[in-house]
Amino acid sequence: MPNKLQTLRSKAYRQQNGYCYYCNMPMWDKSPVPLALQYRVPISRINPLKCTAEHLDARKDGGKDSGENIVAACHFCNSQRHKSKIAIEPERYKSKVQTRMRKKGWTTKLIPSYKWRRIEFRQQKGY
Ligand SMILES: [Zn+2]
Repeated sequence: MPNKLQTLRSKAYRQQNGYCYYCNMPMWDKSPVPLALQYRVPISRINPLKCTAEHLDARKDGGKDSGENIVAACHFCNSQRHKSKIAIEPERYKSKVQTRMRKKGWTTKLIPSYKWRRIEFRQQKGY
Protein backbone atom coordinates (compact mmCIF):
# COMPACT_ATOMS: atom_id res chain seq x y z
CA MET A 1 0.00 0.00 0.00
CA PRO A 2 1.42 3.42 -0.87
CA ASN A 3 1.59 5.84 2.05
CA LYS A 4 -0.29 9.13 2.15
CA LEU A 5 2.59 11.17 0.78
CA GLN A 6 3.08 8.79 -2.15
CA THR A 7 -0.62 9.03 -2.94
CA LEU A 8 -0.49 12.84 -2.87
CA ARG A 9 2.61 12.85 -5.04
CA SER A 10 1.01 10.61 -7.67
CA LYS A 11 -2.09 12.79 -7.67
CA ALA A 12 -0.06 15.98 -8.14
CA TYR A 13 1.98 14.26 -10.88
CA ARG A 14 -1.17 13.47 -12.81
CA GLN A 15 -2.67 16.92 -12.27
CA GLN A 16 0.51 18.53 -13.64
CA ASN A 17 0.55 16.16 -16.62
CA GLY A 18 3.91 14.84 -15.46
CA TYR A 19 5.73 18.20 -15.58
CA CYS A 20 7.79 19.67 -12.77
CA TYR A 21 6.11 22.44 -10.77
CA TYR A 22 9.22 24.61 -10.92
CA CYS A 23 11.11 23.91 -14.13
CA ASN A 24 8.33 22.38 -16.27
CA MET A 25 10.57 19.58 -17.45
CA PRO A 26 8.96 16.18 -17.92
CA MET A 27 9.41 13.92 -14.88
CA TRP A 28 9.27 10.19 -14.38
CA ASP A 29 7.38 8.50 -11.61
CA LYS A 30 7.95 4.74 -11.52
CA SER A 31 10.70 4.14 -14.03
CA PRO A 32 13.12 6.46 -15.87
CA VAL A 33 13.19 4.17 -18.91
CA PRO A 34 10.21 5.53 -20.91
CA LEU A 35 11.44 9.12 -20.55
CA ALA A 36 15.00 8.15 -21.50
CA LEU A 37 13.70 6.39 -24.60
CA GLN A 38 11.36 9.23 -25.51
CA TYR A 39 14.14 11.83 -25.44
CA ARG A 40 16.92 9.43 -26.40
CA VAL A 41 19.17 10.35 -23.52
CA PRO A 42 21.03 8.08 -21.08
CA ILE A 43 19.17 7.13 -17.91
CA SER A 44 21.89 8.81 -15.82
CA ARG A 45 20.75 12.16 -17.23
CA ILE A 46 17.11 11.43 -16.58
CA ASN A 47 17.66 10.41 -12.96
CA PRO A 48 17.43 13.98 -11.56
CA LEU A 49 14.00 14.30 -13.17
CA LYS A 50 12.49 11.78 -10.79
CA CYS A 51 9.13 12.96 -9.50
CA THR A 52 9.21 13.89 -5.81
CA ALA A 53 6.62 15.28 -3.42
CA GLU A 54 7.47 18.90 -2.78
CA HIS A 55 6.13 20.62 0.33
CA LEU A 56 5.31 24.23 -0.56
CA ASP A 57 5.52 25.01 3.15
CA ALA A 58 8.62 23.03 4.05
CA ARG A 59 8.12 20.20 6.48
CA LYS A 60 10.70 21.64 8.84
CA ASP A 61 8.66 24.87 8.93
CA GLY A 62 5.58 22.94 9.93
CA GLY A 63 4.27 22.27 6.40
CA LYS A 64 1.78 19.44 6.31
CA ASP A 65 1.31 16.37 4.13
CA SER A 66 -1.89 17.68 2.55
CA GLY A 67 -3.16 18.09 -1.00
CA GLU A 68 -2.87 21.88 -0.83
CA ASN A 69 0.71 21.76 0.36
CA ILE A 70 2.05 19.08 -1.97
CA VAL A 71 3.09 19.60 -5.58
CA ALA A 72 5.11 17.34 -7.85
CA ALA A 73 8.64 18.60 -8.49
CA CYS A 74 11.65 16.95 -10.03
CA HIS A 75 14.32 15.74 -7.65
CA PHE A 76 16.74 18.38 -8.93
CA CYS A 77 14.48 21.36 -8.16
CA ASN A 78 13.36 19.87 -4.87
CA SER A 79 16.85 19.25 -3.54
CA GLN A 80 18.17 22.64 -4.67
CA ARG A 81 15.37 24.49 -2.92
CA HIS A 82 16.02 22.77 0.37
CA LYS A 83 19.77 23.17 0.25
CA SER A 84 19.58 26.53 1.96
CA LYS A 85 18.73 26.63 5.63
CA ILE A 86 15.54 28.57 5.06
CA ALA A 87 13.64 27.36 2.00
CA ILE A 88 12.87 30.15 -0.49
CA GLU A 89 9.14 30.78 -0.87
CA PRO A 90 7.70 28.68 -3.72
CA GLU A 91 6.78 31.57 -6.02
CA ARG A 92 10.16 33.25 -5.64
CA TYR A 93 11.91 29.95 -6.20
CA LYS A 94 9.81 29.26 -9.27
CA SER A 95 10.75 32.57 -10.92
CA LYS A 96 14.39 31.98 -10.04
CA VAL A 97 14.24 28.56 -11.70
CA GLN A 98 12.47 29.98 -14.77
CA THR A 99 15.20 32.62 -15.16
CA ARG A 100 17.86 29.91 -15.11
CA MET A 101 15.86 27.91 -17.63
CA ARG A 102 15.67 30.85 -20.05
CA LYS A 103 19.44 31.14 -19.82
CA LYS A 104 19.64 27.46 -20.77
CA GLY A 105 20.90 26.42 -17.37
CA TRP A 106 19.35 24.37 -14.60
CA THR A 107 17.61 21.21 -15.86
CA THR A 108 17.78 22.27 -19.55
CA LYS A 109 21.20 20.60 -19.57
CA LEU A 110 19.66 17.20 -18.91
CA ILE A 111 17.81 16.95 -22.19
CA PRO A 112 19.45 18.38 -25.37
CA SER A 113 18.16 21.81 -26.34
CA TYR A 114 16.66 20.87 -29.69
CA LYS A 115 14.42 18.48 -27.80
CA TRP A 116 13.93 21.05 -25.09
CA ARG A 117 12.63 23.69 -27.51
CA ARG A 118 9.64 21.53 -28.24
CA ILE A 119 8.84 21.48 -24.54
CA GLU A 120 9.23 25.25 -24.38
CA PHE A 121 6.74 25.62 -27.21
CA ARG A 122 4.25 23.50 -25.32
CA GLN A 123 4.78 25.65 -22.23
CA GLN A 124 3.89 28.80 -24.15
CA LYS A 125 0.67 27.21 -25.27
CA GLY A 126 -0.02 26.22 -21.66
CA TYR A 127 0.49 22.53 -22.45
ZN1 LIG B 1 12.26 20.69 -11.85
